[in-house]
Amino acid sequence: MDFAFDARTEELRERLLTFMDEYVYPAEPVAAEQRARLASPWDTPAVFGELKAEARRQGLWNLFLPDAAHGAGLTNLQYAPLAEITGRSPHLAPMATNCAAPDTGNMEVLAQFGSEEQQKQWLEPLLAGEIRSAFAMTEPEVASSDATNIETRIERSASGDEYVLTGRKWFISGAMNPDCKIFIVMGKTDPEGADPRRQQSMILVPRDTPGVEVRRAMTVYGYEDHDHGGHAEVVFDGARVPAAHLIGEEGSGFAIAQARLGPGRIHHCMRLIGMAERAIELMCRRAVGRTAFGKELAAQGVVQNWIADARVTVEQLRLLVLKTAWLMDTVGNRGAHTEIQAIKIATPRAVVRILDDAVQLHGAGGVSQDFPLAELWAAARTLRLADGPDEVHQRSLAHRELKKYASRA
Ligand SMILES: Cc1cc2nc3c(=O)[nH]c(=O)nc-3n(C[C@H](O)[C@H](O)[C@H](O)COP(=O)(O)OP(=O)(O)OC[C@H]3O[C@@H](n4cnc5c(N)ncnc54)[C@H](O)[C@@H]3O)c2cc1C
Repeated sequence: MDFAFDARTEELRERLLTFMDEYVYPAEPVAAEQRARLASPWDTPAVFGELKAEARRQGLWNLFLPDAAHGAGLTNLQYAPLAEITGRSPHLAPMATNCAAPDTGNMEVLAQFGSEEQQKQWLEPLLAGEIRSAFAMTEPEVASSDATNIETRIERSASGDEYVLTGRKWFISGAMNPDCKIFIVMGKTDPEGADPRRQQSMILVPRDTPGVEVRRAMTVYGYEDHDHGGHAEVVFDGARVPAAHLIGEEGSGFAIAQARLGPGRIHHCMRLIGMAERAIELMCRRAVGRTAFGKELAAQGVVQNWIADARVTVEQLRLLVLKTAWLMDTVGNRGAHTEIQAIKIATPRAVVRILDDAVQLHGAGGVSQDFPLAELWAAARTLRLADGPDEVHQRSLAHRELKKYASRA
């Protein structure tokens, strides 16, 4: 077994680390200052465009997309350590390199399932970083971790050349950003269909379609997540789009959603590990040189335990994420199902714990805006819900384990 990264990964890692030092970290305070002076907090700070232009110039662009025709053509194993590096500045670096959710998942859907026309109209400007996008599945009225509950209707018009959407969604990431021009909406085309997994379809809905209302921003532990374009409540009230906006065929929504979530989950975990690395660095810097009761914080056993436990946890998580990435590359997403669920269960929980210890070590500063820890904690905590709550993954993973024994009996 070889634990070394290959030459291409090493070369990209070096370049990305330099890009982070020279451009991304210095841009963090600049972005905050610029945002404070914008007419609307949902507008985009000028430094975002500068970062994107520089990343693109340096070839650090669309690294997530394994399809070489559209993206960098990296394997999951090659992309994993790069996503980890961008996770150290999760509000800026993924966006700067055009590797931010939910655009990544949406680009994958369009690259894999979109028609030629859909790719030309929406995938190309997304790949060029000219527009942003959102993915609208979750609904306030139903338990949306079970996609068969979705109630939004996508009805074929009497003339047959349009679909009409009616429904309400919430926590639609990115939708508050005016640059978010296109929504991929999951709804039901056949709500009475015999197979509950063939009732759903996905359809492209341009933001400016009459009947689409981006109603309000949901908060996340009080944060509005401006850099990510927020998490919006969106209402579809008789919104009409051409029939050609359907992705794939009627009834394929559930299957497309499954395909979309596999890579999305591992990308989140890779970035979470980067967030944990940043927390360890901040803990060490804070512990050295700050004195309480006559001793450096770094000399306190409890502080050493936090740092040691964090390092042990990060090493474990990284190995599991890399193994999962390798499996996805070698046996496909289905073959890596157990490992994808395992990392999605293990990583957010563990990183929340590390961030919580880092907050504690920073005292009052830790919960404030002067350090990134509180916001990182909130972001990590939401990943125990987003892309499937822990309990849903635990249930499905346990079913697969138990099945081995049931079949033997
Ligand atoms: C910051 C953030 C961003 C998000 N971005 C998006 C987005 O861009 N697009 C989008 O469509 N959605 C998004 N979501 C929504 C997210 O995907 C859903 O919250 C998630 O799927 C759970 O659905 P729900 O909130 O309806 O919870 P419910 O389905 O009501 O579940 C509530 C709780 O019930 C428990 N539970 C559910 N099922 C089981 C089970 N089988 N066994 C045991 N316990 C169970 C779990 O504890 C679960 O947390 C986002 C959420 C957050 C917090």
